[in-house]
Amino acid sequence: PLDKDEIGTATWGFLHSMASYYPKTPTNKQSEDMAKFFHIFAQFYPCEPCALDFQADLKKHPPRTESQDALAKWLCERHNTVNVKLGKPVFDCSKVHERWRDGWLD
Ligand code: FAD
Repeated sequence: PLDKDEIGTATWGFLHSMASYYPKTPTNKQSEDMAKFFHIFAQFYPCEPCALDFQADLKKHPPRTESQDALAKWLCERHNTVNVKLGKPVFDCSKVHERWRDGWLD
């Protein structure tokens, strides 16, 4: 089985990539479905304490699904909430597209 950190890193990679490929101008249906996706995801994420905290965080900060940029920034902030909880460095969310969509521009 994958351990908590392996699942976490793989899942963040998937979630940030999904946000990066989300439409820039989604339809209402896409926007509603993406919000539902995160609520269902939070119920079944395979680490119980992680899932419970993520559910609580989603209640405070519902998914921002109105555009690719809004979703990518929202997810970056959610990941930072977990980073702070675990004592990891906070990621600069102005660089989220560079990290997960465009590649580092250096
Ligand atoms: P990760 O946090 O896995 O990050 C992977 C890469 O993402 C980093 O190398 C960096 O390049 C990039 N990155 C970092 N921060 C951001 C950001 N804010 N935005 C965009 N990109 C970023 N673990 C626990 O022990 N307890 C928990 O309660 C917990 N809850 C979790 C909840 C969710 C929804 C998920 C997906 C994971 C959770 N984890 C939890 C796992 C934890 O977040 C990490 O994945 C794990 O600790 C491994 O960390 P890492 O240092 O490899 O980097």
